[in-house]
Amino acid sequence: MKCIRIPEPNRVEIVELPKPAPREGEVLIRVHASGICGTDLHILRGEYMGGYPVIPGHEFSGVIEQVGSAVTRFKPGERVAVEPNIPCNNCPECLHNRQNFCRNWQAVGVTLPGGMAEYAAVPEAQVFLTGSLPFEQAAFVEPLSCVLHGLEKLALRPGESVAILGAGPIGIQLLRAARLMGATSISVAERNPARLELARRAGAEAVFSSLDDLQPDGYDAVIDATGAPAVMRRCIDFARPGGRVLWFGVPPAGKELSFEPFKVFRKGLAIYGSFTSLRNSYQAVSLLQSGRLPVEDIISHRLPLEGFLRGCELIEQGAEDVRKVMIFPNGLG
Ligand SMILES: [Zn+2]
Ligand SMILES: [Zn+2]
Repeated sequence: MKCIRIPEPNRVEIVELPKPAPREGEVLIRVHASGICGTDLHILRGEYMGGYPVIPGHEFSGVIEQVGSAVTRFKPGERVAVEPNIPCNNCPECLHNRQNFCRNWQAVGVTLPGGMAEYAAVPEAQVFLTGSLPFEQAAFVEPLSCVLHGLEKLALRPGESVAILGAGPIGIQLLRAARLMGATSISVAERNPARLELARRAGAEAVFSSLDDLQPDGYDAVIDATGAPAVMRRCIDFARPGGRVLWFGVPPAGKELSFEPFKVFRKGLAIYGSFTSLRNSYQAVSLLQSGRLPVEDIISHRLPLEGFLRGCELIEQGAEDVRKVMIFPNGLG
């Protein structure tokens, strides 16, 4: 099979490898759509956990090609999406229902071969039926699961006002999910005019091209969807007294951030982090199937497997019209 392999940071190769044979508890998936995520860029640039070489791609969907002898839930021909984070279910974190912090954590496309390949073998427990959902939408099950987990931690209540800083693919999903959870006033700040326009179409009540236009002390909940420390620190200014902050975007490891802790004290703020997801995949599939959380307009580029590096570069260059880049390992047809 053809696949993308990152042998070491900053190098991408297209290689021919034997098609994986599913082990007894695994299913073999013919991968149809595989989204490029910020995490893939971190892996490409050597800024993330996991070793090399690696086949990247952890946001993908496809069709079951073959099942291992112990698989009970699936049969060949079924359409599925993958939850890439694999917990051991037998460490102190897993046994406390914090499987996302599993001490023996493995992840498809990070520590294990991923979906930037014609085929991927994945444990059955990581796989979810997607029915007639188009493959490129089903590839959003993982990022949407993370979004839902973050909003669960934030414990949004109906009628609350929310500010979202950043309107990339994740910011748009946060916006739509927060609306479904009952937020009645959502403001989005984003420099990129095309992204801001998408945020407006996705239902933001107010959109601003500069952080300085957001209301100080103005929002029940403030969400960073950039991972940029300079933006994250501003969240504290925009949260109202008694408010909450969710730092959702992935910041660069090793970078520090300074802010005035007196503000957190004086406003009694709660600041949440959010790491991956926790059993949110069924919710994500259901929301996507319902059509109430559309993702089609988040996709800006559709490329064959050979386009992986170009897709990464497009995202890094940050051109105005780049949003989610979707790779089709078995062709665009
Ligand atoms: Zn991702
Ligand atoms: Zn564990």
